[in-house]
Amino acid sequence: MPEFFIIATPIGNLQDISFRALECLKRADFILCEDTRVSQKLLNYFDIKKPTISYHQHSKITKTESIIELLEQGKNIALISDAGTPGISDPGNKLVQEIITSLGENVKIIPIPGPSALATIASIAGISMDRFLFLGFPPQKKGRDGFFKQVIDSKYPVILYESPYRIIKTLKQIQELDKDIEAIVGRELTKKFETIYRGKVDKVIEKIEKDKIKGEFVVIVKRYDKRK
Ligand code: SAM
Repeated sequence: MPEFFIIATPIGNLQDISFRALECLKRADFILCEDTRVSQKLLNYFDIKKPTISYHQHSKITKTESIIELLEQGKNIALISDAGTPGISDPGNKLVQEIITSLGENVKIIPIPGPSALATIASIAGISMDRFLFLGFPPQKKGRDGFFKQVIDSKYPVILYESPYRIIKTLKQIQELDKDIEAIVGRELTKKFETIYRGKVDKVIEKIEKDKIKGEFVVIVKRYDKRK
């Protein structure tokens, strides 16, 4: 039976790849990559020489059909994204769904777990993360007000992804709604300039602005608990 591996890859530090991820990348006949140039660096580093196929959120249905055909021919396929776990704010879920619809039990879908910015920030939160709300990227234009209302209304900590271009705008919008809210921000996690900011959101904004706002960011916000 053909195998379809959904493989998590590092979010920065290549040492975070798992043995199993490497083994499955080697077992695949083709590797689907979000951006083939980005993934080629990872594949070169681990000396994995396999044909790559680009697959991203705007891929056409014909691309999906040709992937399904390859599986029907008995080829093993691996899906990776630019970083982290496919399917978490990354392409993957739609393809998995279409493969299940087309091939049902005739394909083995195999998750290869590993790094994700979501789990990485949760692990160092230092607050209870037994329950949390993950909302991914805030909308860039329409729907921002409703989105941030949901953030501050949440009774659980909220995890967000944000780009370096919008991190300050996003934190300021949250601060306007609740000046007491606390933030834990992970910047460039697992990389050379890894920085973790913690505290009241205004202080966190100040520190990030001082550090010149470069890199990738993942954010946890939590309403101040007045009962403490
Ligand atoms: N699927 C990925 C995962 O499992 O982490 C997330 C992909 S999403 C397109 C990319 C976003 O994840 C970035 O904009 C940033 O918000 C967050 N991210 C990825 N790598 C990160 C890192 N090393 N440090 C902090 N945030 C990161």
